[in-house]
Amino acid sequence: MPPRRPADLPAAPVPVPDAPKPATGENQDAPAGSGASPACLAALMVTHGTGVRAAETVPGQDAACAVVEPVVVEALTLRTDAEPRRIAFQPPVTLSCAMATVVAQWLGTSVQPLARGHFTRELTALRVGGGHECRRRNRSSTGALSEHANGRALDIFGFVIGDGKVDGTVVVEKPDGASQQRFLAGVRQSACGAFMTSLGPGSDAAHSNHLHVDIQERRISASRFCQ
Ligand SMILES: [Zn+2]
Repeated sequence: MPPRRPADLPAAPVPVPDAPKPATGENQDAPAGSGASPACLAALMVTHGTGVRAAETVPGQDAACAVVEPVVVEALTLRTDAEPRRIAFQPPVTLSCAMATVVAQWLGTSVQPLARGHFTRELTALRVGGGHECRRRNRSSTGALSEHANGRALDIFGFVIGDGKVDGTVVVEKPDGASQQRFLAGVRQSACGAFMTSLGPGSDAAHSNHLHVDIQERRISASRFCQ
């Protein structure tokens, strides 16, 4: 089953109590690069502002679900114009710093220009879910660990344009009218180039109400997965 669209977004990500822990030995070494230099976060904050901070590591966190340089993203500031533009994340999400960087670049080079082109308004917020979550793909009880388990994935449920009232929110599950549909088509096309994986409505039942993007390397080289 797909996750429910957060109609009234909770203040914090909802834990998944039945998500099984992967079978790994306890206290294994963290993956290479975990807890590495804060260079990525420093660069991210210089370029994309104060809405980003280092995430606290979770004590007892399963090693298989470790995030390399985890950051909490409350907002990303885009500096592609003379005037900086702050894009809020509703609610804030925990991502790997590398993923947050790719998201910021994609918003600045693709999503913001698309919002202007289709609505002559600014993108102001993303309604998101599924940042870092220690679980398997599609919340299954077996199979591969989700890209969300390592903070390399983000689920986007809506794009807030302008103040979100007059201009509205483009809901991924149900875009309202031709302009929103064209905007969303452009967003999905650009996500296909920016990320390793991009899945949305029409791909499978698990992604019927949101756009999933991630930077997980594929086993088959040079393959991007977009649906
Ligand atoms: Zn996802």
